[in-house]
Amino acid sequence: MNALSRFDALIVGGGPAGLSAALTLGRARKRVLLCDAGPRRNARAVHIQNFVTRDGTPPDDFRSVARAQLAAYPQVAVRDAPITALDGERNRFVVQVGDATVEARRIVLATGMVDLGFAIDGFDQHWGRGIYQCPYCHGWEAQDRPWGYLPRPGDEAHLVPFALMARGFTARLTVFTHGAIALDDAQRRALAEADIAVETQAIAGLEGAETGLTAVRLSDQRRVACEALFAQPRQRQTALVAGLGLDCDADGYVVTDPMRRETSRPGIYAAGDLTTRMQSAINAAAMGSVAAAMVNLDLSLDRSAP
Ligand SMILES: Cc1cc2nc3c(=O)[nH]c(=O)nc-3n(C[C@H](O)[C@H](O)[C@H](O)COP(=O)(O)OP(=O)(O)OC[C@H]3O[C@@H](n4cnc5c(N)ncnc54)[C@H](O)[C@@H]3O)c2cc1C
Repeated sequence: MNALSRFDALIVGGGPAGLSAALTLGRARKRVLLCDAGPRRNARAVHIQNFVTRDGTPPDDFRSVARAQLAAYPQVAVRDAPITALDGERNRFVVQVGDATVEARRIVLATGMVDLGFAIDGFDQHWGRGIYQCPYCHGWEAQDRPWGYLPRPGDEAHLVPFALMARGFTARLTVFTHGAIALDDAQRRALAEADIAVETQAIAGLEGAETGLTAVRLSDQRRVACEALFAQPRQRQTALVAGLGLDCDADGYVVTDPMRRETSRPGIYAAGDLTTRMQSAINAAAMGSVAAAMVNLDLSLDRSAP
């Protein structure tokens, strides 16, 4: 293996977490390879909101500005290529990048998560364009409009807290149980006291134009006005991360040491959406920077370097 294919750190994923990790490691003069395969998680979103100094930035612009800034650091290489295999151990990871093999002493996983959606007609079409995961990202633009909230079965503990939080953005909020969640008396009371409507019918379809949502059509053919539907579909890890045998929490997110961001496998760090359901671009970027600082410290203290 020649010197060009050996790196201090390899970063898997070029979203906010990976780009931020690359910047921190580049500034610390480490040899870094960042690989990104696309598509990014917020590919359907028109703007990134709630990222101070970047509020309202198109996601493509966010990535191209970050890459332009990384270009100032000659030790950072960026490739548009998938990581298809990752093996080995701390100081000697062997990684398949497209059709090339490289070595890296540390790994930063910043792969994001894969959204599984809801099997409802129109859901995929309106994801990011009328259907959103997070009111902090898209609530302001839709404030005071008719909103819906589609909780997923198994996530009932978050149902009332999320609905009450969403109610702060609009007085016209409907919870759609989609015939799949049975509310208990306490939940019904809490929603009623906050003037939040509940529809228990299954959803037959979501209606609107390419640019947005107008209504939720129920299985009894009634239409409920809805211009912003909030939903957190189930997610899964990417195939690469799922194959690494890392410890994950009950929801499937990779567990890291909260301070160091190292996973259960020594030398593999993780940052961004794959580690938390508290998902936002600025949160991912912050985690990427912390992971990179910890990788740099780890490399600095490691006297067993090959
Ligand atoms: C529709 C939508 C709208 C959103 N809007 C906002 C918003 O306005 N504001 C906000 O703060 N947050 C928003 N979010 C959340 C935000 O997009 C995520 O929290 C953020 O992108 C997470 O960053 P990340 O770096 O962890 O992962 P990602 O941004 O998902 O980046 C991960 C990257 O890793 C790549 N990758 C995965 N596996 C491999 C592999 N094996 N090899 C190479 N590359 C790989 C992926 O292709 C992807 O490009 C939105 C999310 C969605 C779904």
